[in-house]
Amino acid sequence: MRRLHSLEDLKQWQSSLGGAPLGFVPTMGALHEGHLSLVRMSLARGAKTLTSIYVNPTQFNNPEDLAKYPNTLEQDLEMLEELGCDAVFLPTADMLYPNGLKSREFNFGCLDLNMEGAGRPGHFEGMATVVTKFFEIIKPDFAIFGEKDYQQLCIVRHVVAEENWPVEIVPGPIVREPDGLAMSSRNLRLSEDERVSAAHIYATLATATENWKKFATVEALEKHCADAINAVPHLSVEYITCCDQRELQPIRELDPKVPSRIFAAVQCGKVRLIDNLPLF
Ligand code: AMP
Repeated sequence: MRRLHSLEDLKQWQSSLGGAPLGFVPTMGALHEGHLSLVRMSLARGAKTLTSIYVNPTQFNNPEDLAKYPNTLEQDLEMLEELGCDAVFLPTADMLYPNGLKSREFNFGCLDLNMEGAGRPGHFEGMATVVTKFFEIIKPDFAIFGEKDYQQLCIVRHVVAEENWPVEIVPGPIVREPDGLAMSSRNLRLSEDERVSAAHIYATLATATENWKKFATVEALEKHCADAINAVPHLSVEYITCCDQRELQPIRELDPKVPSRIFAAVQCGKVRLIDNLPLF
């Protein structure tokens, strides 16, 4: 696997590809099976696969979250090597942001009005800034984004459509721990007790969505989940909201004709976790 530390390295590697399709998997490192599943998807498409590892400061609204973001670089490189990833791009902030750490301006339509958009001001602008910089530099044929960050996936699709980027955005399903907790780099920051509590997020959402017909209203379903999760030690719900899965607007009725998902952000000790599941 080639380790690309500069734009020059990247250019040289790309010129050696001889027109093979290029798949791109952006990550912030501390890799786990969720990330690896995306790399496998790219390789399975027969593409040369480039993974980036870069903790992007402009998408962090919480300085402590950025300072404490896990770094397991040596292990990440071993995992990617073992998987057969073709190259890893390891840029620095100076390379990506030569004029300082500033986000671009975007119009995300209504996609950033609630959930992470409301709870993490500036997060999606920072994310879209780095993703569009990567697309400009790398020009991949497709890029794979996990459904774990479902709102991010919708926003990236929107930006690509809006700005006519010739890159296919491919969604990857959520990979979970055996007890259902969505894999996340931030899970490394949970204490043993918090880790046990964190499994109740998925368990609660999964039971509620399986039994959605038992709830008279959307609000009743959301309140049931919030109360059940808030009753677990260490857990505190930031939001639980049911939205249609295209526009990400809150739904008013439980109607299986409208494909929808339940979305949650939950504080677990000092770590903020997110998850989502199809509703029907
Ligand atoms: P991150 O390193 O957290 O920025 O994530 C990099 C990519 O991996 C994003 O597209 C995420 O949505 C995706 N991802 C993170 N966790 C998971 C997971 N548990 N299952 C599938 N994809 C994931």
